[in-house]
Amino acid sequence: MGESVSDPAVAGGQQQPDAPPTRQCVSCGRRIDWNSNACPYCGHDYRMAQPGQAAPQKERSMLPVIGGVLILIAGLAALGMGVAFMAFDAQDFEDWVDLDELDVSLSELDDILFTCGAVVMVFGVIGVLGGVFAIVRKHFSLAVVGGIFSILGLGFVVGAVVGLIGLILVFVGRSSFNE
Ligand SMILES: [Zn+2]
Repeated sequence: MGESVSDPAVAGGQQQPDAPPTRQCVSCGRRIDWNSNACPYCGHDYRMAQPGQAAPQKERSMLPVIGGVLILIAGLAALGMGVAFMAFDAQDFEDWVDLDELDVSLSELDDILFTCGAVVMVFGVIGVLGGVFAIVRKHFSLAVVGGIFSILGLGFVVGAVVGLIGLILVFVGRSSFNE
């Protein structure tokens, strides 16, 4: 690009009349020398692929995408449950649980619910992010971490099952991840 500035003072045998053939790097999109074995910008290796022949497409299964959606749902369920915990008033709890028997005060119970809710919400957020990574089939390890947290979030209990199925699908489709 910057090489195209023509300086009449340099004119002579030094400059080639035609710019050397270039091509667009399939990886980063920048212009690179036609004959280069690897992209100098992003390091994409061209030695395996013959010119004019498309690189063999890796078979990419939909399993991580399905698993990612399930992890995402489990994460959202955990998030929702966390919000519910935090919003829960321990006063309402008193109707179905005998607090004297549990030996906790109302304010203690409120604190416990709030803390549990906050933890579950964090698990849910990590689960949602992991689900998104799985859906775009990137960062396998982060998708797995998200899957694990989406299970630990126990979103309304079913979230744990949904998250586990999602995590299994992500593992089965591991080869379809980019990284
Ligand atoms: Zn490149």
